[in-house]
Formats: sequence, C-alpha cells, structure tokens
Amino acid sequence: MSSEKKKLRFAPSPTGALHIGGARTALYNWLLARGSGGSLVLRIEDTDRERSTGENVEQILDALRWLELDWDEGPLSQHERADRHGERLRELLDADKAYHSLATAETVKAQKAQSNLGFRGEPVAPGTEGAAVRLRVPEGTTIVHDEIRGDISFDNSVHDDPVIARGDGSVLYNFAVAIDDLDMGITDVVRGDDHLSNTPKQVIVMEQLGETPPRYAHLPLLHGPDGKKLSKRHGAASVQELASAGYLPAAVRNYLALLGWGAADDQTLLSTDELVRQFSIERVGRSSAIFDEKKLRWINGRYMRELPLEEYERRFAEQLSRADPAAAEAFAAGDAERRRAALQIAQEKAQTLDDVWPLVRFLFEDPPNDEKAWRKVMKDGTRPLLEDAAAALREADPFEPASIEASLAPILAARGVKPGQLYQPIRVAISGGAVSPGIFESLAVLGRDSAVSRIDRAVTRLR
Ligand code: GLU
Repeated sequence: MSSEKKKLRFAPSPTGALHIGGARTALYNWLLARGSGGSLVLRIEDTDRERSTGENVEQILDALRWLELDWDEGPLSQHERADRHGERLRELLDADKAYHSLATAETVKAQKAQSNLGFRGEPVAPGTEGAAVRLRVPEGTTIVHDEIRGDISFDNSVHDDPVIARGDGSVLYNFAVAIDDLDMGITDVVRGDDHLSNTPKQVIVMEQLGETPPRYAHLPLLHGPDGKKLSKRHGAASVQELASAGYLPAAVRNYLALLGWGAADDQTLLSTDELVRQFSIERVGRSSAIFDEKKLRWINGRYMRELPLEEYERRFAEQLSRADPAAAEAFAAGDAERRRAALQIAQEKAQTLDDVWPLVRFLFEDPPNDEKAWRKVMKDGTRPLLEDAAAALREADPFEPASIEASLAPILAARGVKPGQLYQPIRVAISGGAVSPGIFESLAVLGRDSAVSRIDRAVTRLR
C-alpha cells in the first residue's frame, strides 16, 4: 500500500448494462481508492444524449450496489457540467490553442489521402454558422504515463486536430473527460485499454490548458476461454446476469480482481479486506485476461461453503423467489428444521445459489421423474437390493446418517455389490435423479416414512 492518497473515478457511459469488463474497472478503482485511504468519484458520462438513458444509469447503480462497491462523490452527470466545459473551451479559443473550423469528415479524409500527416484545419471566424471547434495539436510528442505499459509516446505530427466542440457549442467526449478529470483532482485514471487511443487527445487538452495530466493505467481487455473478445457467447456477460445466476457478490469481487491481477503468493481466494490491502497496479499484467465462468463457479462454491447458515438461507430464499416462485412456496412450506437441514447438506455441493434447489427439492416436493437416471441405474437385479434397503431402513435406529449407513452397509457384502450399485438406485428412488447431497444425510433429512415409501414405490415399478 502506498502512502499517497489516490483519487480515482469510475466513469461509465449509461448506454447499456454494466458488463464484466466495466465491473472489473470499477472494482480496481475502488480497491485503489480504499487501499490508499483516498476516494472514488462516480461520474456518469452521459454526453451522448441519444444513447444515454436514465434506466441504464439505474441499472449501473444497481449493479454497483449489488457488488457492494461504494463511492464518495457522485453520481455526477457529465452533461450537467456543460457550462464549465464551455468555460474551459473559451480559454483554449482565446489562447488560439483551438479554432473554429468548417472541415467535415470528408475534408479530413481527402487531405489524409494526400499525406500521412495529421489533419490541420483552416480557421474560420468565431460565430461562423455551423463551425465546430478543433483543438490545435502542437508540434512535438505527447507522452502518456501508463503505470502498466510504461511511458508511451505519440508523435503529434500524425495526430489530426480533433473536434472538441460541435457547431452548437456542445463539447465532445474527449474534451469533457479531460476537463472533468482535472476539475475533480483525479490522480489516477484506471480504465480499459480500448481507451488508449483517446488518452493522447485528453493529455493534449490538459497540457494546452497548462495543466498536469494524471497517471494512467490501461487495463488489458477481457477475453473468453476461446481467446475471443468477451461477449455473451461466453455465458453471463453483465453483472445483472451474474446476480440472477446465483453468484455471491463477495465471490464475484474476488474473481474479478484476479482478471488481470495476481497476488504476490498466487493465492486464489482473497477476502475483500485482503484485496484492499494487497491490490496494486504494479501487479496488473499486460496480456489480456481470460474470463472463465468455470473458475468463477469454483470460487463461488468456496464462498458458499463459508456462508453462515442464516445468511445462506436468506440469500437462497430470495434467489429462489425471484427465479421460481412456486418452488419458493414449496420451500417455505417445509418446517424450519427441515429447511436448515436441507441447506446444510447442500452446502458442500452447491457452487451457486441456483444449484441449491435441484439438490434439495426432493425434500419438499414429490421427486421429479428423471427417466434417463432411472434407466441408467435401475438395472436387472436392482429390485432385491432396494427391498433389502427398505427393510434395513425400517430398522435403522436412530434415523440418522451414521446408523443409516451402518444398517445399509451389510447389504453390500451380503449381495456382493459395490457401493454405487446400491446407493445410486436408492438415490434415484428417493430424489428422482442421479445427483443429490450425500445419500445417508439425504435419507436422514427426508425421514424414515418418506424414504421407505419412495423406495417401496420404486420396487413396485421394477416388478
Ligand atoms: N465512459 C467511458 C466508458 O464507459 C470510460 C471513460 C474513462 O474511463 O475515461 O467506456
């Protein structure tokens, strides 16, 4: 942890949901702010009036809240700062560091067809109808200090004079960002490297205003396991989707932190406090990071196991009522002891909140009929095994995992079968499917009467 307090910002454009890449950017900024004892600004970059919507803003705020990432200033709306942007634009115009120009994209293209040099426009008088404002790119080189890649220098002579304000006086994105980062006293800009080509423009604006740019860190893009740029094809793509797929926010933070950054000791499971203490830009790599939902699932499973039972039940019940209200009713109708016992036996196995119900539903409803599982395990010779099992379970006393196991185990030797040959048919008989929590625990929570009657039913069906 450095002793300097950093001031960072997360600056989403509200043109859609918060995607995983954006969430990682938000998290890294948050970790640096918290780790340095500094602060985080949430700035909504809504200068694109057509594509920015209030709904998207709400969605992004909800996603940040779900991730439990808080901010110290904001949300500020960039477009509400138009007056301030206008002020600084006039400063550049007055100093002749920007000029009015009628050049269109076609003019620029035509000139660029003739030479490799950057476009320089023909100034026209201020107030000329329809004239935009272009920044005068000075001679020389522009250096971007990037904490991940080192200094990057850009040759100004090949840089076009960029439009920084439209004919109607509204400023363009790269200008607004530069002014806001200055005004807000941002010390470090941490964002995706898809912004790298914007950075020299923003730095030139700042330098032409006589100001010192912040430090930059451009994060490598996220890819899917197939090496392609991350998209919906790779599974859940937005924070909302992760939430509705039953992931836990703490696990998502842990996983997102690892997309591009690694702890010094290569540890995978890090609490948020540990992340705040350990996270640094120096350990962010340059190569693209791979989003792998399998690994997220695994990490999430580890967090699921550690959840206190009360929180586990609360989160599970909330998730289930969103995903499947009828199932949520069936669960709620079970008595409190059964609910707790069911969650306890699922906790080892469930990697997400969504995994829980399929594992425990047989304890609250009649088991579904999984024909495939039935055909796979109910082989010739299964019937006598199940008859023995039902008889043993009638005697098991108390009806608890250890004594249930003790009463079933002798059947293995007596019939000369392997554990799977006995326990898988029991599993299918009581739960309907081939996957359940541990068989002895499952039988115990289900209770003697239901267990025996479900096994008897299977025996009847096998006749
Ligand atoms: N608004 C930009 C985006 O959502 C981020 C700009 C920045 O961080 O400077 O991609």
